[in-house]
Amino acid sequence: MTIQKITSPANPAIKMLKGLHLKKGRADTGLFLGEGLRLAIAAAELGRWPEWLAVSTGGLERGGAAKYVAAAAARGVKVIETNDAILAAIAKRENPQTVLGAWRQSLHSLDDIPTGPQALVLVLDQVRDPGNLGTILRTADAVGADGVVLTGGPCDPFSVEAVRASMGSLFAVRLARVEFAAFNAWRRARGLILVGTHLEGAARHDLFPIDQGVALLMGNEQAGLSAQEADACDHLVRIPMRGNADSLNLAVATAVLAYDVWRRRDFRDAPP
Ligand code: SAM
Repeated sequence: MTIQKITSPANPAIKMLKGLHLKKGRADTGLFLGEGLRLAIAAAELGRWPEWLAVSTGGLERGGAAKYVAAAAARGVKVIETNDAILAAIAKRENPQTVLGAWRQSLHSLDDIPTGPQALVLVLDQVRDPGNLGTILRTADAVGADGVVLTGGPCDPFSVEAVRASMGSLFAVRLARVEFAAFNAWRRARGLILVGTHLEGAARHDLFPIDQGVALLMGNEQAGLSAQEADACDHLVRIPMRGNADSLNLAVATAVLAYDVWRRRDFRDAPP
């Protein structure tokens, strides 16, 4: 196995890995940064190996990391052995993980998403905050959602913040990105009901019918759902609130709704 030892911050591969914090760096390379051995092993279990790995000398001396790195190198992953200072510079944090990787970005198409009568699809319209997006991917993974669809919005699911917040679930969830009109045509053709979440929704969030596949439509953090998208929904629902808060955080509202659909389906396929 070939491992390149690099300790210069000026090395082009190190500069490229650091550049993955920026949209331009991710667009130029088509890669994104993932951190930690746990995430790397979880990705490998899903058949996703990085193109680059940077690992500290100390990390390489530990059994678990050494085994993973050997398996990665055997698959042609470019492995860099380096020091904690370089890893901290790549991760832009003081106590970096001992293993950092760069994976190829890939999204699913809508047709990869199952749409049977038990389907649950989470749709995020104009989501803005990468922390919310990552948290929602993690929740989608936990409830076994069939897919997550991004309709518009500036948020990059491959940003370091979104990947961190997803805690590895980015690899596990079928994630698609399309315009709202294309999503709406697809979900109609597939027989999914569209349930919009709205502070002025007439119905309570736990009462809409779930005897067919459900797409839950979540609105933007500031503006909520646009009138046009609210009009496209079969149901508009609201999570009851009391007290002074005028709304819930987007990721919290998504979790409440997604878990409630799963509860109403008797936590189907939950491990014992
Ligand atoms: N000012 C925005 C508005 O008027 O809609 C608040 C948006 S809220 C922070 C972001 C998203 O979370 C909403 O568009 C909706 O999808 C969901 N949400 C938050 N609280 C909710 C509630 N009580 N019922 C239903 N959806 C909610």
